[in-house]
Amino acid sequence: MTVRLFFGRQLPGTVGESRRVVHVLKAPPGDEIPKQLAAFCGAVFGRDELELLGEIRGMPCEQCLRETPTPTPELSEGGSPELEEGTSP
Ligand SMILES: [Zn+2]
Repeated sequence: MTVRLFFGRQLPGTVGESRRVVHVLKAPPGDEIPKQLAAFCGAVFGRDELELLGEIRGMPCEQCLRETPTPTPELSEGGSPELEEGTSP
């Protein structure tokens, strides 16, 4: 099961600046960004509430980082570290 990861934070003016941390959001595979995005910390945001970022900029949501399966999720690489094992003898 593959999920795509996004980074996003709430738009300015919707919450206080101190709460505008960058969440790590998961989305199902495909080209479309769903209307609702669930963050790893458990928060759910509407797509329109979020400013989507290509990278973590500013203060990250610590709980999201803790819950994220990979230590440094990368959008472009798609990188799930899969070990390729050759044909076993
Ligand atoms: Zn979060």
